[in-house]
Amino acid sequence: MRTGASMRLQVDELAALVRSRICRECEVREAGEGCHPEAPDRCKLFELFPLVAQAILATDSHDIQDYVRAIRENVCSVCLEQALDGSCALRGGTQCALDSYLPQIVEVIEEATGKKFQRGNLCA
Ligand code: SF4
Ligand code: SF4
Repeated sequence: MRTGASMRLQVDELAALVRSRICRECEVREAGEGCHPEAPDRCKLFELFPLVAQAILATDSHDIQDYVRAIRENVCSVCLEQALDGSCALRGGTQCALDSYLPQIVEVIEEATGKKFQRGNLCA
């Protein structure tokens, strides 16, 4: 069982790994809908990253769909951008980095944890 300290460390480590992987090529920033150097917290991926990491770390499965579901249920469900009917105007385009880069984010988690997912099931 993870202690609070080790969980915190993992979240910070995962955030750093995701930043190094995603931010340098991020089209959400290019589209002007994500972060800004003076307002990085506008990015939903990192605004909600503790929940993103928590959802993934709490999911023990070799099926990527379980991780996608965990993100939808534990992150999108508390995001202010999601409507009451579960829809999100930013999802499906290049306006939410979490949605746009979910496969890559999962890959980072895979590398960090050594888990192997069924890529054939990968679907953001
Ligand atoms: S929008 Fe998010 S993922 Fe994209 S560059 Fe900014 S902080 Fe990184
Ligand atoms: S897909 Fe929509 S609801 Fe989910 S984190 Fe992104 S902006 Fe929020």
